[in-house]
Amino acid sequence: MNVSSTELKQARPSPVPVAPKRGLGPVRILLLAIWCGLAAGALEVVIVVIRKSFLDLNRLYWMPRQFLWLTPIADLVLFSVLGVMLALVAAFGGQRGRWLAARLLCGLALLPVFWAAFPRIYGPAGFVFALGAGVQAAVIVERGGDWFRRMVWWSTPVFLLVPILAAAGTLASERLAAWRESSRPAPDGGRPNVLFVVLDTVAAGHLGLYGYNRPTSPTLSALAERGIRFSRAIAPSSWTLPSHASFFTGCWPHELSAGWLTPLDGSKRTLAEFLGQRGYATAGFVANTWYCGADTGLGRGFSTYRDYIFPDLAAFKWAVLVDRPVEGLRALDHDIRQRFGLDFLRPIARYVWWRFNSGERKDAAQVNAEFLDWLAQRTGPPRPFFAFLNYYDAHYPYELPPGNVHRYGIRPRNPREVELIQNWRAVEKRNVEPREVEFVRDSYDDCVAALDEELGRLVDDLDRRGQLENTWIIVLSDHGESFGEHPGDFGHGTTLYQTELHVPLVVVPPRGTGTRKLVSETVGLRDLPATIVDILGWGSDSPFPGRSLVGLWDSRKGGSGEVSPALAEVVPTDPVEPDLAKAMAARAAWSSLTRNGWVYLRREGSSFDELYNLDADPGELSNLVADPREHARLEEMRALMNQLTGGPLSRDRFQP
Ligand SMILES: [Zn+2]
Repeated sequence: MNVSSTELKQARPSPVPVAPKRGLGPVRILLLAIWCGLAAGALEVVIVVIRKSFLDLNRLYWMPRQFLWLTPIADLVLFSVLGVMLALVAAFGGQRGRWLAARLLCGLALLPVFWAAFPRIYGPAGFVFALGAGVQAAVIVERGGDWFRRMVWWSTPVFLLVPILAAAGTLASERLAAWRESSRPAPDGGRPNVLFVVLDTVAAGHLGLYGYNRPTSPTLSALAERGIRFSRAIAPSSWTLPSHASFFTGCWPHELSAGWLTPLDGSKRTLAEFLGQRGYATAGFVANTWYCGADTGLGRGFSTYRDYIFPDLAAFKWAVLVDRPVEGLRALDHDIRQRFGLDFLRPIARYVWWRFNSGERKDAAQVNAEFLDWLAQRTGPPRPFFAFLNYYDAHYPYELPPGNVHRYGIRPRNPREVELIQNWRAVEKRNVEPREVEFVRDSYDDCVAALDEELGRLVDDLDRRGQLENTWIIVLSDHGESFGEHPGDFGHGTTLYQTELHVPLVVVPPRGTGTRKLVSETVGLRDLPATIVDILGWGSDSPFPGRSLVGLWDSRKGGSGEVSPALAEVVPTDPVEPDLAKAMAARAAWSSLTRNGWVYLRREGSSFDELYNLDADPGELSNLVADPREHARLEEMRALMNQLTGGPLSRDRFQP
């Protein structure tokens, strides 16, 4: 029987089909992950820059300038680590492993782009969306072929260039500012230096210098012995940014754009700009990165401005892929406490959060070191300096910097005490016992005393360098701090009672001047820029609103000169609410006027206003607004406040 060759072929059993390996192998997964890291970093930076420059104008971002190159590096490291992990999954997980690795990688690569572009969308929603899109993207990548390979080749150098150019641009802008400063002629006439020192959150009422029953401020007392002490200096607001903005522009808070969510815009000239243009070397060294960082607008006019530091894992925080989950831990901490009672998880959440946020606690020693390094490295022709220091050590959380000893308080001994110290702002104050308030207040006093000691080290160091002979030192605070002295009032930025407004002010002339005075008049700190330019001899050219305080200590300038009324303004926030926008939504604006030992206080939209006699009632507990004997005084203060604020208050005036 003949069998044709065709039949033979048909009869021969066909070989067992071997399915081609599908998906990406481990090496390709790793290479793709590295490329995804480069792409995510570059795109994230570009998106944020576009948003800041064109879309979210006049909005605070709370980001260091270094994010331009830190973010791409962080993304590259993160995706490289992720790539190694997913490559192992692809290598040992078989077909399913390859399938899963490609989809996870594509989803996570899209996530930072999505989160950066839509920051107000709920984080987990973005995660789900990115994973869904990643599944689709993975299919395209797996089928990709030549066009995908070509795209990777040409895009890689572009993505690499973004951080390199950003780092070069940051460096170049710093060099340019230094060059501009050195190219200006130095001011004539041997004008003195000005050292402007803000002890953030130091209430006058907690200083030995102001009669507190604890010797918390020996350095300030020694400085006051050599200069001018103001017994009642009133901050322009009860929180950081509007107060500092007023110090630097001479404007009232309602005239400025500075708010809880908005920076100081460029519409008002700053003291640093004025002095820089006249040949001063200008430099700022700030520890409160939340509301004094360059992003807030307070750095405008300073040729050198040092704000953020990057210890531990802090450099990674600026990648949104890290920042969103880490900040989510803060909310989780809140939820764990409020809803679930899973207290054992809280230390873990806190620990992880802190590893990425340790840069928030730049202490006074670090600020001093930055300033003294700058001072030592100055080059070029001699020119006087205007230096601004902001210390954050007395601000909550009331934890002593390493190396300091407790003078009045104790180290927390149990989880509740740790909670009180580390999370005081958000602790529900209705549930706090009086002894717990005392415990927290003692810790605050410890921080104030440690800060004063560090200020003393700075003054000693300047003395050794011979700088005190030609330097005016101005020490003050931007607001105080409350511990329930007025019922229900804790922290700052929440009311305008004196515990939050009465701050230290000590002005120390260059050594040998011999000026020593106690000024008992109430002064408002919006007069500081006018005062400083007057001290330096440019009083007649001052572009700043407000009046010089020099006449209060120098009789040649008119004896007890007239000063601005001590107006203070705030749109209070709710310290327990973590979302600032929500915290502000339900709040009405407050204003207060402190004058001749009296305080008038009122709130937007409320017929309830307050009048206190500070001499007889320093705690502001006995409201005299209905006292017929004080009617004339009340009407006078109401009229003055209307004149200063331009009529009835409105919170809209604080939100440009
Ligand atoms: Zn402050």
